[in-house]
Amino acid sequence: MDHFVCSLLPCRVVFGSGTLTRVASEAAMLEMTRVLVVTTPGRSEWGRKVAENLRERHAATFSGAVMHTPVEVTDEAMRVVSENRIDGIVAIGGGSTIGLAKAIALRTDLNVIVVPTTYAGSEVTPIIGETRDGIKETKRTPRVLPEVVIYDVNLTLGLPPQISGVSGMNAIAHAVEALYARDCNPLIRLVALEAIETLSMALPRVVEQPGDVTARSSALYAAWLCGVCLGSVTMALHHKICHVLGGLLDLPHAETHSIVLPYVVAYNCGHAAQSMSELGAVLGHRNAAEGLRDLARRVGAPSALADIGMSVADVDVATDRVLAAPPFNPRPLERSSLRRLLELAYEGGAPQDCA
Ligand code: NAD
Repeated sequence: MDHFVCSLLPCRVVFGSGTLTRVASEAAMLEMTRVLVVTTPGRSEWGRKVAENLRERHAATFSGAVMHTPVEVTDEAMRVVSENRIDGIVAIGGGSTIGLAKAIALRTDLNVIVVPTTYAGSEVTPIIGETRDGIKETKRTPRVLPEVVIYDVNLTLGLPPQISGVSGMNAIAHAVEALYARDCNPLIRLVALEAIETLSMALPRVVEQPGDVTARSSALYAAWLCGVCLGSVTMALHHKICHVLGGLLDLPHAETHSIVLPYVVAYNCGHAAQSMSELGAVLGHRNAAEGLRDLARRVGAPSALADIGMSVADVDVATDRVLAAPPFNPRPLERSSLRRLLELAYEGGAPQDCA
């Protein structure tokens, strides 16, 4: 066994169906007495349900969360926090809603309970990305790690199939990059492989039958594991590319992850051979990159960055942005190969090693 370091994140997880009713007792355990409920504008009815459950602990609701956590929205939410003497947050929704709760926690150190409704994984990470003047900056700090996560499978039954598919592929990307992370450890390796295998079996069923509770339950369980991977070890080229494309071109987050992943896996294959062969095995495919591309196709994900808003001129700009602050990656980054990778992802061509 090689040398390794493993630190486990302190976060209480409640998982099941109908667990939304546990919000009040979890808030009581954290001694929250004046709770702010956070949602996106489209999900305010969930906010009302949580408020009903919290009863006298509910002090205010803020339904203005949006993607990429702009600081102006956090400023607005902070006014509600101080006007209502808030002492705890409950966020219900996807990564955008959770991002706002984390941004408030960063400024106030308040305790946070999150009820995730997508597969993005942010709920179990100490990572926050905030957008200021059009630039998204990410940092890691234990201040933003939620204290409690309540997974309620019932809330995911209405997640539309197209969003479910790409959200699940976004989750898989966290586990894939954990496999070749420079700080991976044996525990996270097990978690990552279990997560990918479970999600790759559950996602096509979720997309075919969105109301299948068993498939939804497996997908949500695996998404939790993927989030643990993201929160525990350092991501590499794939996450860097998606971060650059999201910030530069405002491409949709989960779709971008879903498209880019097979290309990065093909690029890294020869430099992380053991991990990529284990990845292929859990995907049931000899070639890991092709296995991921097949899965993305089966869940109805888009296959080319050109289809989600990238233009050919962006290939060079994105290449330069990645190289301006290169991440760790098992295969060293070199301009012409990286440019080729982005060009293939832009066109939706067959993944190659780009040598
Ligand atoms: P999202 O939160 O923006 O949700 C996507 C859409 O789905 C929204 O319109 C939302 O209202 C809707 N929705 C959510 N759950 C639903 C449900 N169960 N039923 C019906 N509709 C539902 O998207 P996301 O992909 O979950 O999150 C993306 C954001 O999260 C990005 O800003 C990304 O940077 C961030 N993120 C952060 C981390 C981290 O660790 N910090 C990890 C992953 C993602």
